[in-house]
Order: sequence, then structure tokens, then C-alpha cells
Amino acid sequence: MSNVYLKSGKEESLKRFHPWVFSGAISRIEGNVEEGDVVEVFTSQHTFIARGHYQVGSIMVRVLTFDEQETINDYFWQHRLEEARLKRIAIGIAQRADNNTYRLVHGEGDNLPGLVIDIYGRTAVMQAHSAGMHFQRMEIAQALMKVMDDKIDNIYYKSETTLPYKAELGQENGFLIGGSKENIATEYGLKFHIDWLRGQKTGFFVDQRENRALLERYSRGRNILNMFCYTGGFSVYALRGGASRVDSVDSSAKAIELTKQNVALNFADDGRHHAYAEDAFKYLDEIEKDQYDLIILDPPAFAKHRDVLRNALQGYRRINAKAFEKIKHGGILFTFSCSQAVNKDQFRTSVFTAAAASGRKVSILHQLTQPADHPVNIYHPEGEYLKGLVLYVE
Ligand code: SAH
Repeated sequence: MSNVYLKSGKEESLKRFHPWVFSGAISRIEGNVEEGDVVEVFTSQHTFIARGHYQVGSIMVRVLTFDEQETINDYFWQHRLEEARLKRIAIGIAQRADNNTYRLVHGEGDNLPGLVIDIYGRTAVMQAHSAGMHFQRMEIAQALMKVMDDKIDNIYYKSETTLPYKAELGQENGFLIGGSKENIATEYGLKFHIDWLRGQKTGFFVDQRENRALLERYSRGRNILNMFCYTGGFSVYALRGGASRVDSVDSSAKAIELTKQNVALNFADDGRHHAYAEDAFKYLDEIEKDQYDLIILDPPAFAKHRDVLRNALQGYRRINAKAFEKIKHGGILFTFSCSQAVNKDQFRTSVFTAAAASGRKVSILHQLTQPADHPVNIYHPEGEYLKGLVLYVE
């Protein structure tokens, strides 16, 4: 095993259990280290401080354990996955009759940096975001089968878009265990086709579940625009909530197909729903004022990296400004950002700037975030990525 030695004073964040070692903190590496290896991390005083996966990049080590006695073996994976499962049971999401869709492992939030596992009925979809997790995918899959016992039959591995490009790891998508054509999952009593083969993330945005449930409570009698609808999650909840009309918009024709399918799966021939493949900015420019009394804006991560932060903030400001310009008096705006690089205050400032430009009176009704099955490790505040505001626009 290779050893990583820190520069003097660079152990402070690790002492506070922050799970990343940045390249700038490292003074030297002993041994022949390869990407994805498990390495030991030592302070400049040569004391053990952490053990984790090594990777070339600005985050060089993702910490798996701070306990010198804990080795990374089959028992380790089982133990961590069991802890994650117990957390979902404590939350009350893992054993509901009306719901079989939830996140079982959320990276750092479950002390497993680089690993995401979503459960869709009897299939788990596993995603590696680091070379280390990729190399250990079979051990993890075996441990997952043990921990989930008779609750899942299949594990689908989807890492094509999440692994670092340069590592040339032979990224792959496919079943590691089992194989199933059944791809309908249930979320709070609603059905969704999950396209884990081609869909974004693990096929569905599990992280908006609680926010969709809140939207449902605001839907009755309203004309709703679900902008950036993707698989139509918000639209389906709005229809169940008694909306008078729901318009779903996404620039991707494939997303519009998925949305139509999901609406049909729950409400066959529902004349209240319409879906359009259109660019968001163009659509909002072309509609009449006062057409909608509820608008949802859930755009893609405008900033994937810090260096494009300025553009991202401008993107949020522009799209929200258009919504403020067009929404009816007494309207409700659900507005989100899922960019990790944009923090809560920056997002709020963008929305504030857009509101101010419209000159309208705006109040904050709810401040939203990711649900409990996407937990934030208290020592890793960067894990809080989803931000949302529900606004009342006079
Ligand atoms: N609200 C969705 C998730 C949205 S993901 C849910 O709850 O599941 C972001 C979506 O925005 C993607 O489907 C993408 O196709 C779409 N998109 C990206 N750029 C767009 C643009 N300029 N106009 C409209 N849609 C866009």
C-alpha cells in the first residue's frame, strides 16, 4: 500500500473529518501509487490520519475511514452499506407501501465518497464517481446484495458519464447482478418509467421527491408551467393535486417523450396536460403575461465548475427574471438550483436581483433543499447542493 504524507499544518481539515485531501496539501507519496488504489494518509509528523481512494486531480484522496483499525475489505463495504440502510429506515423512506424509489447511498453524506446508489423497486442503480469505487464495484455489489437481502434482485452499474475521462477506465453501463426489464418505479403512489440505460443521473431525479410533494399541495385549480420538466416529475404531482392545466417544457424531445409516457402511466388521456419541446428562454419570451399562476423552474446545473460561476449566476438571474415578468399577480414560483458550485446565498442573490428588476413585491414562502435520503455530512458542507425557493409574487 502507498503512503501519502501531508505538508506541515495541512492535517487540520482531516482532524475535523473533512473527507477530501487536496493535491496542494500533499508533500510526498511513498510507493508506486495507481489511480483507484487505497492509500494511507499521514501527517507531516508521520501519524496515521486517514485511509482512502487515491485519484489524480485536485481532490487526490477521498477518505473512506479515519480509523486506523478499519481496513477496506468486504466487511467494510457491508458495514457502511448497512449503516446507510439503517439511516433510510430511520428516515422512514425505505419501507413505505406507496414508495419504492429512494437514494440508499449519497457519497460523502454516507461516508462513501464517490459512490451513489439509488433503489428503484427491485433494482439498485449504482454509480461510481471515482476510480476507486469503479475498481471495487464487484465487492460493493456483493455487499449490497447481502445488506438488501431479499429486497433487490438486480444491480445496474451506470458510470459512463460520471467517471473521470482521462483515467481510461473502460467506463461501462450494464447489469452487474441480475437483469430486469421491469423499469417502473413508484414514488409516493405515482408511477414513473425509469430509463436507467440512457437517462440522466441514475435515470430519475430522486432528489426532488419532497419538493414535488409540496408542489402537489399548491396545485389545485392552478394553471401550471413545469419548465425543465425532464421526466415530468413535477407535472404528474401537479395533475394529482388537481391543477386545471399543466404545461411541461424541456428542450430535449426525448424528455418530452418521457414526460408524456409518465403522465399516461398515471392519468390516461388527461386533457389537462400539454408538453412542448422548446428552449426555456424562447418559450418564456413568447408566452402572454398572466398565462400561468404557478411556474416551476428546475434548470440543469448551470455551473458544474467554479470557473463558470459568474455565467451560472447570470443564467439563474435571467431565467428567474423572465418568470417574474410573466407570472400572474398572486402567482407562486418554485425556483431551484442544483449546482454544487453555487451556494445558497449566491442563488438567493440571483433570484433577488431578478425580482428587483421586475419591481414586483415578492415574499419567500418556503426555503427548500435536498431530501433526507440525500444527507449532508456535517463535516462536508459542500454536500448541500440542491437549493430551492417558493415565492409568492404579488
Ligand atoms: N425537473 C426535473 C429535472 C430537470 S433536469 C425533474 O424533477 O426530474 C434539467 C432539464 O433541463 C433536462 O431535462 C434538460 O433537457 C433541460 N434543459 C436544459 N437546457 C434547457 C433549455 N435551454 N431549455 C429547456 N430545457 C432545457
